[in-house]
Amino acid sequence: MMENCLFCKIIKGDIPSTKVYEDEYCYAFRDINPQAPVHVLVIPKIHVANMAEISLLPQEAQTALFAAVKKIAEAEKLEKGFRVVSNCGPHACQSVHHLHLHILGGRQLAETMV
Ligand code: 5GP
Ligand code: ZN
Repeated sequence: MMENCLFCKIIKGDIPSTKVYEDEYCYAFRDINPQAPVHVLVIPKIHVANMAEISLLPQEAQTALFAAVKKIAEAEKLEKGFRVVSNCGPHACQSVHHLHLHILGGRQLAETMV
């Protein structure tokens, strides 16, 4: 738990969120400003800032994060496809400094990524 971290507060339940998945290592919830019909954020329960710090997570937590993506994609019926994005640092316009994977889908997404 990191003081003043929005996503740590969401995990703790101090800030409400719409949960879509949870296990020992991860929490997933709907993005407040969805960019697609399905826009879910998957986060590790241990605070790390971004993908540049992912090796600070125990191996089990790293594995769980990616396993959660697959489970959520299935639960959200994204069989036609989906996109996973993780913004890391200023060049990527990361705005919340707790590692998160965006899962985007539910419609045809743009061919360009940037
Ligand atoms: P970033 O820009 O860091 O990759 O993504 C942060 C994401 O968090 C944004 O898509 C933004 O809409 C989402 N977000 C910011 N604050 C909240 C919040 O309080 N609740 C939820 N559910 N999502 C949030
Ligand atoms: Zn945090």
